[in-house]
Amino acid sequence: MSRVSAVRFSHFLPSLLLLLAGLSAAYVKDLNVFFISLFNVLPTLVLLLGGSYCAVYRRQRELFLMITVYVAYFLLDTQTDYYRDHGRVRDDAAVVFHLCCLLLPLLFSIYALWQEKTHLFRDFVARCAVLLALGSVALALEQRYSQALLSGLAQIRWPALHGAWMSLIQLSYPMFLIGFIALAVQYWRQPRPLHAAQLVGVLGMFWMLPQTFILPFTLNIMCSQVMLMIAAGVAHEAYQMAFRDELTGLPGRRALNERLQRLGRNYVLAMSDVDHFKRFNDTHGHDVGDQVLRLVASKLSKIGGGGRAYRYGGEEFAVVFAGKSLEECLPHLEEIREIIATYDIKLRNPDNRPQDDQQGRQRRAGNGASNVSVTVSIGVAERLAEQRSPEEVLKAADQALYNAKGAGRNCVVASGQNRRGAVRLNGAAG
Ligand code: GH3
Ligand code: MG
Ligand code: MG
Repeated sequence: MSRVSAVRFSHFLPSLLLLLAGLSAAYVKDLNVFFISLFNVLPTLVLLLGGSYCAVYRRQRELFLMITVYVAYFLLDTQTDYYRDHGRVRDDAAVVFHLCCLLLPLLFSIYALWQEKTHLFRDFVARCAVLLALGSVALALEQRYSQALLSGLAQIRWPALHGAWMSLIQLSYPMFLIGFIALAVQYWRQPRPLHAAQLVGVLGMFWMLPQTFILPFTLNIMCSQVMLMIAAGVAHEAYQMAFRDELTGLPGRRALNERLQRLGRNYVLAMSDVDHFKRFNDTHGHDVGDQVLRLVASKLSKIGGGGRAYRYGGEEFAVVFAGKSLEECLPHLEEIREIIATYDIKLRNPDNRPQDDQQGRQRRAGNGASNVSVTVSIGVAERLAEQRSPEEVLKAADQALYNAKGAGRNCVVASGQNRRGAVRLNGAAG
């Protein structure tokens, strides 16, 4: 599967909705007491709930991302509270704000890019050490060299690059930009919901900081939303792990079982199985076999007629047509069978060496260079009045698949149809 096809808008959708909700809420004027109280406790509530959720699932990277956002929220909230109560900013407001503008994107990007690889406890200690080291250096500088630090941070280093719209310290912009690019690259290399959430989270914080003292509750709202994005990313991935097949990207057996419980009265189930796949694996190797399974899955996922494909297990796939009759589905199944059979698969890695001489000879004697093809057999069953459960229909489809194998493979056979009646356009696969 190419990277482009692994990039999904659905990875970004929850975070974008949260960002949008945060932006809209921040612009609401004259909030009533209920919302004021809610926004005051929201970041702490989200940290406690989201943080425990991440801790239970041992997602330390996400836990530390939340802690980073919360620490920035806490420091800035103390300042905005003072500003609201006294009508002027605290003496240390500027230096604290500038430090947050610099360290928040830095620390957030470090944790976001730092994947958990080592032992859990060691990883935890290392992350704590980074947080403590950065925090204590910043605190020490702020206490001891407050003025020097302030002028160093506020200095405009590159006047030519300074725009009138820039309300943060100049150093903050490259920090956000580098963080954003690094996280975009990370998403590109590993398109996962969590990496998408981190990317949108950076945008949220970039928007939030200049508004901190301007729009009341911007800080509370956007920090909560960014932490929620992270928690939603973890939940999204947990769902994917449970319901998606990792190799093909199709929904897996568990998702199929759930779908089967929600089917109405009329539906059609099809079972499809790659022909002679064991032989294919033996000839071309398991990795090429995996590539082929991905390809078959991608073709099946595009089946027409409202069909939805699932990886049933191994080289078997199920297709569910809800609210359809057998006559409506058969042409689509036949079409997809033919598409797969006539597709010339170009092996992505032609250097993929056979494991031994015999395999090499088989390969050369077979399809030659790096083009291969496979066929699938399909058994299909419509729900009949006497069939009470979807499992019975699935069994009938499985029996029809068995008949399709008996009919010479590379064909579609409907339940109840005899072997000779199998729909076959091409010659048998083997
Ligand atoms: P038939 O035409 O009767 O279906 O023959 P077959 O060889 O396809 O049937 P069989 O069930 O004996 O073999 C299925 C093979 O599928 C065995 C296994 O090596 C292969 N297989 C199952 N899951 C995977 C997978 O995830 N990746 C790869 N590469 N091969 C797999
Ligand atoms: Mg099989
Ligand atoms: Mg097979």
